[in-house]
Amino acid sequence: MPAPDLSSQTFDRLQDALVRLGEPAFRGRQIFSWLHKKNAVSYSEMTDLSRDLRVRLKEAAPLHSLEITGRQEADDGTVKFRYRLADAQEVEGVFMPEERRSTLCISTQVGCGMGCKFCATATMGFRRNLTAGEITGQLEAAKRKLGEPISNVVFMGMGEPLANLEAVLAAVDILLHSHGHHMSRRHVTVSTAGLVPAMEEFIHRTPVKLAVSLNATTNKVRDRLMPINKKYPIESLLECCRHLPLRHTDRITFEYVMLDGINDSQEDAHRLIRILRGIRCKVNLIPFNPFSGLSYRRPNEDTVEIFQETVAAAGITVMTRKSRGHSLQGACGQLVVGEK
Ligand code: SAH
Repeated sequence: MPAPDLSSQTFDRLQDALVRLGEPAFRGRQIFSWLHKKNAVSYSEMTDLSRDLRVRLKEAAPLHSLEITGRQEADDGTVKFRYRLADAQEVEGVFMPEERRSTLCISTQVGCGMGCKFCATATMGFRRNLTAGEITGQLEAAKRKLGEPISNVVFMGMGEPLANLEAVLAAVDILLHSHGHHMSRRHVTVSTAGLVPAMEEFIHRTPVKLAVSLNATTNKVRDRLMPINKKYPIESLLECCRHLPLRHTDRITFEYVMLDGINDSQEDAHRLIRILRGIRCKVNLIPFNPFSGLSYRRPNEDTVEIFQETVAAAGITVMTRKSRGHSLQGACGQLVVGEK
């Protein structure tokens, strides 16, 4: 039997795991909070466990915390981290401090299988899913390194979160749990390229927020940019969004990467308004962030501004995402690591 991975267990499952190891359930609670509240990396830090138990756990259920192997900081305070996993694979993530909040962008897979044509991560292909412990481990490692609180987490790093649904749901559980990171559900957002069945399951199983990478207003263009559109075309994606049982005042965020001459025209803006009708949503425009070897271009600022004004005039909340971490290739769609 493989050693249990305690850092990937939700609160309830961790208690069960300890019972299976012949310990009382409350040991699970203690370990959960050491791992996900106090960001411990080893059993030796868990001083309210007996020395005996610590030694036994080290043998029976070794911990593999993530190691930060790279850290680049931009002038605006944005930090790009590189994390090494137990099997020496690597993922990247980005920390973005603001005045009243700070956001960590985390990865859910090594590489990505979605194949979006404008995204650097896609060039890696899909290598493997992260475990729940590797997903929350990015937050824990960043907190340890930065020594400051992180108020928001976005699942917008490498990978397609909804293609790794069970691990993502367990990770969210750990982020929200009062003995874990105790985050507000409103401060956690999971982004998807549009895996329709998984989106429905997601909404039923977790209260955190959903973002959808729309990126085009016609199937012709979206087919070309995002192969997933052939499976779940715009109508079925938006039909799903229209009927999702959103909580309270929640809205779906639609991300829209703006590519010069491809999806940034006034016709696109008007079509966007039309297709989003009846969906409680807001729109996040992301001017394309280039990476080497790609022919797409970022539209000029006026084009982005006019597009935004047109959409806003229809009563839709729309923002242009400030490009952060650009100088260190840490902006949206620029995360990539080499062959392992
Ligand atoms: N796979 C998920 C999670 C990644 S989120 C998803 O697709 O939603 C990453 C966001 O960055 C997506 O909205 C994507 O459309 C956007 N993006 C990807 N490459 C980009 C680039 N080169 N410039 C700007 N945004 C990009």
